[in-house]
Amino acid sequence: MWMQGGVDEEDRLDAEAAKHTIRRAAQMLRPYRRQVLVALAMVVIWTSTTLAGPFLVRHGIDQGIKQDDAGALDAAVVGYVLVAMVSYVAYRLQVLLISRIGESFLRDLRIRVFRHLQRLSMPFYDREKAGVIVSRMTSDVDSLQELVQMGLLMFVSNGLLLVVSVVVLAAVSWQLLLLCLVCVPFVVLASIKFQRDSNRAYLDVRDGIGNTLSQLQEGIAGVRVVQAFGREDVEAARFQTGNRRLFDAHMRSVRISAWYLPVIELSGLLTTAIAVGLGGWWVHTGALTIGTVTFFVLTLSNLFEPIQQLSQLFNIVQSAGASLNKLFGLLDTPIDVPERRGAVDLPERGDIEVEGVSFAYVGGEPVLTDVDLHIPVAARIALVGPTGAGKSTLAKLIARLYDPTEGTVRYAGIDLRDATQRSLRERVVVVPQEGFLFNGTILENVRLARADATDDEVLAALDAIGVRERFDLLPEGVHTEVRERGSRLSAGEKQLVSLARAALADPAVLVLDEATSSLDPGTEVVVEEAMARLMEGRTVIVIAHRLSTAERADLVGVVADGRLQELGTHAELIERGERYAALFATWSGGIGGPELLPSP
Ligand code: ADP
Repeated sequence: MWMQGGVDEEDRLDAEAAKHTIRRAAQMLRPYRRQVLVALAMVVIWTSTTLAGPFLVRHGIDQGIKQDDAGALDAAVVGYVLVAMVSYVAYRLQVLLISRIGESFLRDLRIRVFRHLQRLSMPFYDREKAGVIVSRMTSDVDSLQELVQMGLLMFVSNGLLLVVSVVVLAAVSWQLLLLCLVCVPFVVLASIKFQRDSNRAYLDVRDGIGNTLSQLQEGIAGVRVVQAFGREDVEAARFQTGNRRLFDAHMRSVRISAWYLPVIELSGLLTTAIAVGLGGWWVHTGALTIGTVTFFVLTLSNLFEPIQQLSQLFNIVQSAGASLNKLFGLLDTPIDVPERRGAVDLPERGDIEVEGVSFAYVGGEPVLTDVDLHIPVAARIALVGPTGAGKSTLAKLIARLYDPTEGTVRYAGIDLRDATQRSLRERVVVVPQEGFLFNGTILENVRLARADATDDEVLAALDAIGVRERFDLLPEGVHTEVRERGSRLSAGEKQLVSLARAALADPAVLVLDEATSSLDPGTEVVVEEAMARLMEGRTVIVIAHRLSTAERADLVGVVADGRLQELGTHAELIERGERYAALFATWSGGIGGPELLPSP
């Protein structure tokens, strides 16, 4: 089940990976350089105003009150009000800017990842589990979102405030600062412990949320099966267990914060007490002024609040860093069937030459061995053979969804690896057994094959294969939404959409995976008619599940045990009296009609 990864190495970054991730992120932020600079300027202004307040108070007390200088007091008060106003504006701007930069960054990242996912080839999808890929876009992007929404601003401005406060306090009286900091070792120890405990709790919570979500998803998707077998209570109990775990993880994280936060609070109060006590004593001895002690007390709060917040943010930052690293890793995944430099466009027509081709899926056994096959222009070849023999694999190699492990596939004499992807996709189109329908109307779904096609062109494609009337029967014709109120299209209609897509793409080579199951008789005729029209004038490779299809083809190839065992016309192969002839005999000896190919 996806998102159930648990707490693993991948959730943490080592220094090297962190550096790399930050560098990549900085690169992606380059278009926002100006905004970043302005935002940082606002952070600096806000930090300065936060520190300027106590300075003005000191001035007001030492000059205005103790020296009885009314002018100095007025200046301090007016200055304070001005500083507060500037602080307000700077704070507002930094919130807006940092959020805007963060959200823009996320938007860019989502688009980039999605685009890359769409371009990654089949071998990638064979290797990776769909759930893991989806979790990159959901839980990893979410954890970055969390950082952008809750913490990025605090992290940046609190970090700066902490550092600058220490410097300023040291400059005013390093002796007093040193004594005030006796609590620091405790704060550090407590923070380290908090880090460690809360880290685990935080990951547990995220894990729990992931599990709950996927259980929910499964529960809803599988509700029919659950009800059919009366398993409602069992499923609910399972959900309850997961939910209980999530509750426990939440409570653990709350408990950890509940001891840590007061410790820091207390340290802050103790430090203030030290500042008042020691500072007051030094005022008596004349080493410090009252204003300076007040300044200290006011500024010390700048230390403890950021420590508290930074500790809490640390988990979010770490998690977001790990997520970002994983997303960059995904973006770095090379496309397995890349386009060569200097690739050429495939000509409009061409024969297909499969030469000495062997193939194995990543980490798998050889599926095809030493296949040679020549398909002349506009010829139709039917591939037949038992399930799992390698027919679809051979078809996929011809469409270059994969590259052969050995040997070459050529179109018009050009190795497919030397062809531009665009021209290849224009020339060779695969019509899968079950086409996928996207949300949208029938018209939009057909247009998928060629984004720039006008409505008229799409309609012409429907006409070309004679299916327009079939769709006109639907309530809103070709403007019918395919996903509304459940899937309204029947299996046959879905297939018609697939065929119409191919017609719109108008390829020279068509790779067809014939449906294994029969359709309702009414649609069956329309589909067969559409298929026949679509095939006209094109080179066709059809993975045939019916011998009637094989019978009508120009060439029949029998694939078995990863080899092309027989190749010839239907008549030749019958004549030969081997595998194909045996299959044919079974068929014609049977009940008759368009039988499915028997599996051995
Ligand atoms: P056919 O189309 O003749 O039924 P396939 O070409 O689909 O056969 O499959 C041939 C073999 O390759 C089978 O053993 C199948 O399990 C394996 N196979 C098919 N697709 C994949 C894939 N994406 N990853 C790994 N193995 C695969």
